[in-house]
Amino acid sequence: MTEQDRYDAVIVGAGFSGLYMLHHLRELGFSAVVLDRAAGVGGTWYWNRYPGARCDVESLVYSYSFSGDLEQEWEWTEKYPTQPEILRYANHVADRFDLRRDIRFETGVEKARWDDAANTWTIETDTGSTIVAHHYIMATGCLSHRKFAEVPGVDDYQGETYHTGRWPHEGVDFTGKRVGIIGTGSSAIQSIPIIAAEAEHLTVFQRTPNFSLPANNRLLSAGEQETMKANYRDHREAARTSGFGIPNPEPEKSALEATEEERQAAYEAAWEAGHLVRMLLSFNDMITNKEANETACEFVREKIRSIVTDAQVAEDLCPYNHPIGTKRPCLDTGYYATYNRDNVDLVNLRRTPIEAFTPNGIKTSGKEYEFDAIVFATGFDAMTGALVAVDIEGKDGVTLKEKWQDGPRTFLGLLVNGFPNFYTITGPTSPSVFSNMMVSIEQHVEWVGACMANLRETGKVAIEPTVEAEDYWVEHNNEAGDETLYPLAESWYMGSNVPGKPRVLMPYIGGVGVYREECDEIVADGYRGCVLTDAA
Ligand code: NAP
Repeated sequence: MTEQDRYDAVIVGAGFSGLYMLHHLRELGFSAVVLDRAAGVGGTWYWNRYPGARCDVESLVYSYSFSGDLEQEWEWTEKYPTQPEILRYANHVADRFDLRRDIRFETGVEKARWDDAANTWTIETDTGSTIVAHHYIMATGCLSHRKFAEVPGVDDYQGETYHTGRWPHEGVDFTGKRVGIIGTGSSAIQSIPIIAAEAEHLTVFQRTPNFSLPANNRLLSAGEQETMKANYRDHREAARTSGFGIPNPEPEKSALEATEEERQAAYEAAWEAGHLVRMLLSFNDMITNKEANETACEFVREKIRSIVTDAQVAEDLCPYNHPIGTKRPCLDTGYYATYNRDNVDLVNLRRTPIEAFTPNGIKTSGKEYEFDAIVFATGFDAMTGALVAVDIEGKDGVTLKEKWQDGPRTFLGLLVNGFPNFYTITGPTSPSVFSNMMVSIEQHVEWVGACMANLRETGKVAIEPTVEAEDYWVEHNNEAGDETLYPLAESWYMGSNVPGKPRVLMPYIGGVGVYREECDEIVADGYRGCVLTDAA
């Protein structure tokens, strides 16, 4: 083994977590290498190139805060950034901070094993190299491990197939084609209007209708950028202490105490603004009280009925089986109006489920459909999928997959008992997907950097949470979830989009600010709940 294959840290993933982790560790004087299967940086924004892909957190805040210069020099063009623009930003960051020389692209991890005697991780890659590192950091993203439709015969289908999460880089031309799309989550809702405008015919297979608000996207004005750039420090601070990592006034009133006029005005304002957090924080009991939440559900259903001209199609598009927000709501551009087009059909899979793929298309209980192309907008094995997909072996030969067979067990969503010096950036049971990811990424990266620096300064070689600390955190995460409506939905938040996956609320709903305080207090208490190992 050469010195080139020994590092203080191996970081898996060259998305926004991995890029900042590498930069931050370098600043702290650590050596680190990033491994990524992709041929370029960007993580989720590298892979998700489907038509219409766009972030639904506003561009001015979906950005790093760690460099004032970066903040000031980068110009966003639209309110909600497109995938190509976000990818350009990721590439700019990689170049600006000279990150590429420590990133190994087209390199996946095959196995990672903890060596208890040496206090190191040994990482084997699919390019045949072995790397030894003191710390092993998973920056693999929450939504990176794809899932398909669990329907027989998928390999029988002879036409073109695409998954929104691995879209061809050269794009796809659907002109003159009969296209089927499975799914009506965020990826589908963004791509359906664009595919419909191009294809000869589009058939949408919907199992669960979703709540979507119009993005009302537009170009940013120079004035808006200047104002934000002048106030970035205050804005970032407010984001760090907020609930969802996006500053929003804390509502004082219950939706049930408000008058009908007040409710309509609040929901209409959120609808017009195209702002999901504002909708969910219209009143103080939106995510805790079903009756309160239902008032917003009905507001959105009324909007759907007012947009979609065919009454049956409109009703099929109305969600009734989950409170708004408990499955990830969407932002769209012309989604509901797309169903008024002559070349678009909606198939309600609750009435006529898919039975099988055929050589020419899809057979439901009602009809056989023929397609030139099928798009899987079927989502991801979220939060844990990418982590357990790699063979990660901790103490006593126990793998992470075995440890998490009944659901993820972590301390703070960052550390795992039995897996010393192992860190999960925006891991399960941290705020992660219940926040502006950039805010949570930066917090975790800085926490891990400080932790590694602390070990170095105090002559320790390993950190590992105790079983008790982990039990406490898992229980706390579940209790926080049980106070909300989230457990009522069959969602990827709950793991229930993947057959056989344990049903637990994976992200932490206690709030970004509260969570940050908890993390900071644990450090202030000398890494309370963790065992720090002295050098032999
Ligand atoms: P998703 O939200 O999980 O949606 C997957 C869709 O496929 C659902 O409608 C699901 O139906 C359907 N589906 C899955 N398996 C099926 C089957 N066997 N038969 C029929 N239908 C099936 O996935 P996604 O749209 O890719 O989005 C995932 C997450 O990525 C989002 O929630 C969001 O957090 C993030 N994302 C964000 C943006 C953005 O910021 N704008 C854009 C895209 C994605 P069921 O609901 O019935 O399971």
